[in-house]
Amino acid sequence: MVDGPGFRTSIYCAGCSHKCPGCHNPQSWDFNGGCEMSTKEIMKIIMADPFANVTFSGGDPMYQAAGFAELARAIHEQSNKDIWCYTGFTFESLIHEDQRELLEQLDVLVDGPFIEKLRDPDLLFRGSSNQRLIDVPASLYAGEVVLWEPNIAV
Ligand code: SF4
Repeated sequence: MVDGPGFRTSIYCAGCSHKCPGCHNPQSWDFNGGCEMSTKEIMKIIMADPFANVTFSGGDPMYQAAGFAELARAIHEQSNKDIWCYTGFTFESLIHEDQRELLEQLDVLVDGPFIEKLRDPDLLFRGSSNQRLIDVPASLYAGEVVLWEPNIAV
């Protein structure tokens, strides 16, 4: 419930090079941590809860963008779940890179590194005020960042 609105299945990947001071999850930085899982295995977990939407987190999923893009496509093919993704990269740095394929599958991107001096525990779904909740389809259509707005139910 803290990784986006409503009940969600969060997929935590291993590996992050941003090494933000004060990171909530430094045990996830090791690219050799965790265990390999196939898209099929992860889909079985995701589809076990018909009501939960999905969040990709870590670590940073953008280091495994091709795998997460494949997973996101499978989610969209088999359900109407929405997909949020956390990354230490900025939206602007991803739109022209290999990660764009994953970006195009996302509903909301929470972008940017965690910056300790900008930490604010009252922020919605993010840790520091530089991070943005980005409506990805609207941003790709507009060619600039469009922020996601929570509805009243959040
Ligand atoms: S990007 Fe996220 S997981 Fe990576 S170091 Fe920063 S806060 Fe931690």
